[in-house]
Amino acid sequence: MPNCAVRQSDNRKRVVVAGLGDTGVLTAIHLSRHADVVGISVKPALVSGQELGVRLSRPDDWARDYWIGFDRFHRLDRVRTVHAALAGVDFAARKVFGQRADGSALAEEYDALVISTGVANDFWRRPTLQSQEEIGAELRAAHDRLAAAKSVIVVGGGAAAVSSAANLAMTWPATRVGLYFPGERALVRHHPRTWERIRRRLTEIGVVLHPGHRAVVPHGFTCDQITSESVQWSTGQPTTSADAVLWATGRVRPNTDWLPAELLDDDGFVRVTPELRVPHHTGVFAVGDVAATDPLRSSARNRADRSVAHNVLAEFGGRPMRTFRAPQRRWGSVLGIQPDGLEVFSPTGHAFRFPAWSTDRVLMPWIVRRGIYRGVRENGITAS
Ligand SMILES: Cc1cc2nc3c(=O)[nH]c(=O)nc-3n(C[C@H](O)[C@H](O)[C@H](O)COP(=O)(O)OP(=O)(O)OC[C@H]3O[C@@H](n4cnc5c(N)ncnc54)[C@H](O)[C@@H]3O)c2cc1C
Repeated sequence: MPNCAVRQSDNRKRVVVAGLGDTGVLTAIHLSRHADVVGISVKPALVSGQELGVRLSRPDDWARDYWIGFDRFHRLDRVRTVHAALAGVDFAARKVFGQRADGSALAEEYDALVISTGVANDFWRRPTLQSQEEIGAELRAAHDRLAAAKSVIVVGGGAAAVSSAANLAMTWPATRVGLYFPGERALVRHHPRTWERIRRRLTEIGVVLHPGHRAVVPHGFTCDQITSESVQWSTGQPTTSADAVLWATGRVRPNTDWLPAELLDDDGFVRVTPELRVPHHTGVFAVGDVAATDPLRSSARNRADRSVAHNVLAEFGGRPMRTFRAPQRRWGSVLGIQPDGLEVFSPTGHAFRFPAWSTDRVLMPWIVRRGIYRGVRENGITAS
C-alpha cells in the first residue's frame, strides 16, 4: 500500500468510522465535536438498511427518510466523509487502506477505529461503491419490476419479508402476494404477540400465508436479485410460480472481507467485548450489524452508537467505559410508516401507535431528525 496517509497536525484525536450506514452516521455525529472524525463509506449518503417494504413499494417516501446525503446532517459538517471502499487495515501503523470512488488509493491514520461496515443482505444491502445516480436507478428498477408484476412470491419469514409482503399488498391491492416461510409462524425472533397482530393485518390486506415452505435456493444464487423462475420447496410442496420472486431469506453476510480473520468469529462477524471493543486491539471498536454483540446482533437498533462513541472518548481520556446489554427479542417497527401512522412493537410484543398526524409533524421532524440525528437540512432526494 502507498505510504501517503493523510494526517492533520493539531492535537485532537483522529477517529476513523469505517462504514457510514445507520450506526456509523450516528457514531460520527456523537463524536464530531470531540475529535477529528473521518467517515469512510462506499455510499455517498446514508442509505439505510431499514424498512425494505416501504423502499420497494413507495421509494420516494422511503428516500425522504432513509436516503440522506451526508451534507444534509448538521453534525456531519465537521466530519470528513470519504467515498471509498475499505480494503485493509494495519493495526501496528494504525492505518486503514482502500480505494476511493475516483480510483485513487486511500490511506487514513487513526487513533481510534470504529468498525461499522454492516452486513450484505439479499439484494437490497450490498457493499458496492455506488453514486447517487446508481442508488436511485437501483431503487427505481426494483419498484418498477414489482409494480409490473401481477403476482409476487415473497420468500422469507423475517421482518424484511413480512414488511415487503405487507407493503406490496397495500400499495398494489390487485397484485397476488404470497408470503412463504419455513416455520409455523413468521417473525420468530419477535414476541408471539407481534406476529399475531401482524398476521391478522396481513390476512386483512390479502397476503396469502404459506407456512411450512422452505425454498430451495438455486445453486450459486446469492438472493441478490428479484427473479422470475419457479420456486421449488425442500418441504415437499409443488413448485410455485409468480411474475416476481422476492428473496428476503435473511442470509446476511458480514462486510468484513477487508479485515483480518483473527478479528472475526466463525461466521465472519467482528468479535467484541461488552464495551464494544475489539479484543487485543487498543483503540479498535465495532458496532452495528457487523458486531457479534449478541445472538441477534442487535446493537444498531438498540442504539449502541451512543455507547461506542462514549467508549472511544473514555479510552482517550482514561475514563470508565459503558457496557452494551441487548434485549432477548427483536423490537421496533415491522411495516414502517403507513398512511394511518406507525406501529412500533416492544420486546414484549405490545404495540405502540404513532397516529398519522404525528409521524410527519412530530416523529420524523422532532424525534428522528432533531432528536436522533441532531438536525437534518431539507431538500430530500427523490428516487425518480
Ligand atoms: C435509529 C435506528 C432505528 C432502528 N429501528 C429499527 C426498527 O424499527 N426495526 C428494525 O428491524 N431495525 C431497526 N434498526 C436496525 C436496522 O434494521 C439495522 O440493524 C441497521 O440498518 C444496521 O446498521 P449498520 O450501520 O450496522 O449497517 P448499515 O446501515 O448496512 O451500514 C454499513 C455501511 O457500511 C458500508 N460498507 C460496507 N463495507 C464497506 C467497505 N469495505 N468500505 C466502506 N464502506 C463499507 C455499507 O455499504 C453501508 O453503507 C434501527 C437502527 C437505528 C440506528
